Amino acid sequence: MSEQGAGHGGGTLDPADWAGLRAQAHRMLDDMLDHLEHRRDLPLWQPAPPAARAAFAAPLPQGPSPLDQVHRDFLTNVLPYGAGNTHPGFMGWVQGGGTPVGMLAEMLAAGFNANCGGRDHMALAVERQITAWMRDLYGFPETADGIFLTGASQANFLAVLIARTRALGPAVREQGLGAAPLTAYASAEVHGCVPRAFEMAGLGRAALRLIPVDAAGRIELAALDAAIAADRAAGARPFLLVGTAGTVNSGAIDDLAALADRAAAQGVHFHVDGALGAFARLSPRLAPLFDGIARADSLAFDFHKWAQVPYDAGYLLVRDGGWQRATFAADNAYLTRAATGLAGGDWWPCDTGPDLSRGFRALKTWFTLKTYGLDALGAMIEGTCALATRLADRITAEPGLQLIGQVALNVVCFRPAGDSDGSRSARIVEALHLEGRVAPSVTRIGGVPAIRAAIVNHRTTAADIDALVDGVLRLDASLA
Ligand SMILES: *Cc1c(COP(=O)(O)O)cnc(C)c1O
Repeated sequence: MSEQGAGHGGGTLDPADWAGLRAQAHRMLDDMLDHLEHRRDLPLWQPAPPAARAAFAAPLPQGPSPLDQVHRDFLTNVLPYGAGNTHPGFMGWVQGGGTPVGMLAEMLAAGFNANCGGRDHMALAVERQITAWMRDLYGFPETADGIFLTGASQANFLAVLIARTRALGPAVREQGLGAAPLTAYASAEVHGCVPRAFEMAGLGRAALRLIPVDAAGRIELAALDAAIAADRAAGARPFLLVGTAGTVNSGAIDDLAALADRAAAQGVHFHVDGALGAFARLSPRLAPLFDGIARADSLAFDFHKWAQVPYDAGYLLVRDGGWQRATFAADNAYLTRAATGLAGGDWWPCDTGPDLSRGFRALKTWFTLKTYGLDALGAMIEGTCALATRLADRITAEPGLQLIGQVALNVVCFRPAGDSDGSRSARIVEALHLEGRVAPSVTRIGGVPAIRAAIVNHRTTAADIDALVDGVLRLDASLA
């Protein structure tokens, strides 16, 4: 065992003692499965003690350490102090809980160690199958292509670049943006990664017009029309309309069909940010909320949120794969294609996105979709929405609590009654985090802090919803 950490037999890093490694590997797998099986009984979050933090001040190791000892370090200093998104009480932000199946697939992918930038191998066939499945799920045409990315932040960024290339032609890659007065439109509730995409693309965030929303958090269509008309009158060139299918603050879904109509009439790219909500399409009851999504020119979503695939697994689906290639493909000598053999295949993922070396995110996604199936995933998603409704009902029934806004999907915002400056809300959430039983987060609604619960985790139950409500009431009483 003591030799596992070191390379032997010359330079190889494989173990001299495979039997010993195998025994240790089984222990590591069992430890992680134990952790997941009993996750509910462990603290959701706890502050890492100084000793655990000090372990990460150790110097870069010159010599080897036994694998079992490094694993013990992980069990002692890392595992107990995670962010808690695997715990059923986690409702903060919008994060998936992961699954044992996804974990096992991730292990297989690491052993396979595929570089999914290109070449002719079956890892790319798995990724292409996910693309075909997503094309069908969202009603995109045969011409559609897509690509795995770290997350929807990157997917939204790529959509901006693709829309830019569509507007200015591939010459923009050589010549840059120049003085083209490009303008784009999204609701004021759009996720912060979209304005940042404009910064990163060199367009500047001022090019993105933030349109007011209605009482339900959806983009106001009359205000959108007026903004586009004013920009055109001033000589600007609208090139992109971004709809949100599930806003981060309230789960609101823009009127996607109405946005598709406007994008078509204006001749601009229509992108949908479905990071939070797009998988609600798996529920027959919720699917009609997303009418019009099939008319998007591109759609960003995250397998690592509602679909529970382990981090990270973002995705961009694009109506015409040619737009991706026009934006990213390049003729590099060291990536020359062959007619047959390992270097075969016409288009590689490095032609359709910005990354060359890419991991095998498709495998954990493929395992998740195949092992659970769409019916179970759709039922799980519907279940989280039912829990959000239950939470909203309890809040409405409690005189000490006040529901804020509407519940479109799985996000619920509220405050203690009379907390007009939101200060109690913020302190209650902080105290709940320290207790480690349930974890909502804080957002600002109309500039005022509010408690926000996003029910994304497949492990969350009615007992966790009740623990949240009871915890907020108890802490509010003790703060008063
Ligand atoms: C989470 C989220 C994003 C960002 O996605 P990442 O995967 O975290 O990069 C973008 N938009 C919305 C609506 C989101 O909920």
